[in-house]
Amino acid sequence: MTAGQAAVPGARDRGRGLLNHRLAEFGTTIFAEMSALAVRTGAINLGQGFPDTDGPEEIREAAVRAIRDGRGNQYPPGPGIPELRTAVAEHQQRFHDLAYDPETEVLITAGATEAIAASLLALVEPGDEVIALEPYYDSYAASIAMAGGTRVPVTLRPRDGAYHLDLDELRDAVTDRTRLILLNSPHNPTGTVLRRDELAAVAELCVERDLLAVTDEVYEHLVFDGEHHPLAGFPGMRERTVTISSSGKTFSLTGWKVGWVTATPALVSAVRSAKQYLTYVSAGPFQYAVAEALALPDSYYTALREGLRARRDLLAKGLREAGFEVFSPAGTYFITTDIRPLGESDGVSFCLALPERAGVVAVPTQVFYDHAAAGAPYVRFAFCKREDVLRQAAERLLTLREG
Ligand code: PMP
Ligand code: GLN
Repeated sequence: MTAGQAAVPGARDRGRGLLNHRLAEFGTTIFAEMSALAVRTGAINLGQGFPDTDGPEEIREAAVRAIRDGRGNQYPPGPGIPELRTAVAEHQQRFHDLAYDPETEVLITAGATEAIAASLLALVEPGDEVIALEPYYDSYAASIAMAGGTRVPVTLRPRDGAYHLDLDELRDAVTDRTRLILLNSPHNPTGTVLRRDELAAVAELCVERDLLAVTDEVYEHLVFDGEHHPLAGFPGMRERTVTISSSGKTFSLTGWKVGWVTATPALVSAVRSAKQYLTYVSAGPFQYAVAEALALPDSYYTALREGLRARRDLLAKGLREAGFEVFSPAGTYFITTDIRPLGESDGVSFCLALPERAGVVAVPTQVFYDHAAAGAPYVRFAFCKREDVLRQAAERLLTLREG
């Protein structure tokens, strides 16, 4: 099994024969498959990562107001509305001390997903190698394939209750054909937050080997242990980094699909060239609302983080009590577990049986690996759910102990 390949038998076959060779290995995304399984079985869905409570009411009202006032109901400007570009630039300055010109260095996209796809389509030549940390978010593999690139995974390995990046392995993965490193920290699905010294080493490598970096920082505000450091802030990186983030996780509005890119004018212009033929523009009225969201006071961001920290701890405790080995995440809203203490070794069949056995849906992380064996015994649970839902899920999972 490889990244992006559907876990559910049959899903892969539907694409076979019709899909072009670049996409032939990709069936239906695991998130759609597992959410459909949750709906079919009535199980608690801790699979796909979306919150079960919507983001701030004042921000949702701002979107309603924009629609009523006729703002954004027609095509917004290609790079995004000026108010949102300015808000993104102010956010980068306020939280990360990074200065970007809203006119030339910010691009609004249809979520981080489009930003990732457009960046790879714009920057990768067919045959170029793209290094990504494995396990990786499934759209990376598909986007690299769509760009005609070759993905080169560097595996994060679990040790002492957390996942670790082997910097020597990363260094060894760079060849003369490497175009860019696609980084994700805080990292989905492992919850790893790369430390300053690790990011500094990645940055040095990029500079030394003249590589671009595309960095997916959608979980930038969901860090519980340690700190998030944007890669663009390291020496030599501002001019070679495309930084991507999105409103989905930070404001619990995953359905709005408002994301953004910050980079130099030349990089933004390249990404925009691809983006304009994917969607051109999207989410007009939501862009006005997200501009307001980004300006929310620090107390909003702190409350989001602390609320999720409590839920992380609640679910981690429940999972431990149910018999899983738990890798407590330093960031994101996902917990990865090892199912071997439960006497299981195959995450895919475990997850397919879990709704029946315990009334819970989770995601096998094996589908985010090229080295499938390295990911086989790991299963991801999302904790961006109400506390009562997490408690109920934990209670249900206790039945696994009974065999
Ligand atoms: N990157 C990562 C690491 C993700 O987990 C997700 C899922 N939300 C995305 C990108 C996609 O973000 P968006 O919904 O803004 O497209
Ligand atoms: N990012 C979310 C996750 O990892 C899901 C996004 C999606 O469904 N594509 O669960």
